[in-house]
Amino acid sequence: MKNVDLQIDARWIATVEDGTVLEYNSVVIDGGVICDICPTAQARLSYQPTRLHSLPNGLLTPGFINLHNHCAMTLMRGVGTDLALMDWLNDAIWPMENAHVDHDMVALGARWSMAEMLSTGTTTFSDQYFYPEAVAAQAIEMGMRCQLATPIIDFPTAWAKDPAEGFQKTVALHDKYKSHPKVHVALGPHAPYTISDATFNQCRTLADQLNLRIQCHIQETQGEVDEAIEKTGQRPIARLEALGLLGPDFQAVHVVALNDQDIETLARYNVSAVTCPDSNMKLASGFARTRDLWQAGVNLCIGTDGAASNNDQDLLSEARSATLAAKGSSGDATALNLQQTLQMMTLNGARALGLEDQIGSIKVGKQADLVAFDLSDPFIQPLADPLSALFYTQRAQVDQVWIDGQLKVDQGRIAGLDIDELVNAVKHQRKSMEPQ
Ligand SMILES: [Zn+2]
Repeated sequence: MKNVDLQIDARWIATVEDGTVLEYNSVVIDGGVICDICPTAQARLSYQPTRLHSLPNGLLTPGFINLHNHCAMTLMRGVGTDLALMDWLNDAIWPMENAHVDHDMVALGARWSMAEMLSTGTTTFSDQYFYPEAVAAQAIEMGMRCQLATPIIDFPTAWAKDPAEGFQKTVALHDKYKSHPKVHVALGPHAPYTISDATFNQCRTLADQLNLRIQCHIQETQGEVDEAIEKTGQRPIARLEALGLLGPDFQAVHVVALNDQDIETLARYNVSAVTCPDSNMKLASGFARTRDLWQAGVNLCIGTDGAASNNDQDLLSEARSATLAAKGSSGDATALNLQQTLQMMTLNGARALGLEDQIGSIKVGKQADLVAFDLSDPFIQPLADPLSALFYTQRAQVDQVWIDGQLKVDQGRIAGLDIDELVNAVKHQRKSMEPQ
């Protein structure tokens, strides 16, 4: 019998490695790393765990990876409901941001976002917002993994007066966290319509020098594409290709308004595409061609986007929207099947972040970032397929979340977090942000 830290016996395990769901297997964890996956009967003979966790009606999945978020926007949840994208930005969001974004506001909003992400099974996220240093501190305190795409934009913000200051602060943040196991700094040029060629060129140079990823909102609406053609003579993706921006380190967010040539270009440069279906539907931006992106071999990932445009941070409900939108918009019921959907929110996210050797699937040698769902709800029964139950019934409860084998969520409670105190602080902050 070998002594180990933790053994989780599960009715079902969706490893994401080979597209199968294991039954009556156990995941064995030592030192935060998965050291064995085997039938439970065999694990009981081989291991003496310090902690044994049993999921008789449970499904174990890898921790979810939310690849696009503006975490602090949880404080703007519900602002500007039922407005179109540009009206929503110009009339509702940007005025509130301009008046109220500061270090402490971002720290509080990010913490609130992380609480919701953790309690709904997300263990790794990407953020793109002002004061990324505040988000880094909160993520470290919560024990979450993150990519911080620093906000680069061609006009003054509360965080940086111009792109040069944004790049300078990005380098400082990179230097601070370059050896941190969970915090990864990236560049977040906002969008082609707010970034000049010169600023994009600087992003590419800095990304190459420091080995940083680049995340950018791309072709979110047809209007954005039409305007770009009018101004530059090029579609944004063609412009980025010409500038040499595209590559496997590039994460293109939204990619709603794509033609066949755009999809071919994204595939050719091994760009990761990040779909945010709830935001796209809510702001009437349209449906991303996720089936075509997947078929073209593009690494398709998913994000919630900020809570102002969603309004939640729950990646499972986002993925449910993605698979339904893929089918409904393509007329193909096999589009984005549930194994692909689960892969999109785990392993593909890990690939986009360059972390596929560490996270994204349940595999020996990877970090033990895991989520346990309880599938015993009466209205999930009769249960034909655990993934179908997980995605479609909306009744699967997150029971536990582990990061590096450490229990972060247990029966709805987040380790080390006073949720009542936090929600009071959030309500107080929001009240101070309402127009007088
Ligand atoms: Zn966004």
